[in-house]
Amino acid sequence: MRIRKCFRCEKDLDYESYIKNGNSNNIQHLTEIWECDYIELYCCHCYCLKIKYQPKIETEYFYY
Ligand SMILES: [Zn+2]
Repeated sequence: MRIRKCFRCEKDLDYESYIKNGNSNNIQHLTEIWECDYIELYCCHCYCLKIKYQPKIETEYFYY
């Protein structure tokens, strides 16, 4: 599995944790997101900041 970094802080994201925190019934969809260069992934910390300050931006997914 490829390495993804948080779009904002560039912390390495862990695929196992990402899957665990997603919907386990939809691993294939989560994997497609993970593999897509056009979708921004965030660590938990940055995601929380983002939804707090930019709640109207809808293109991101989070991990962690
Ligand atoms: Zn981050």
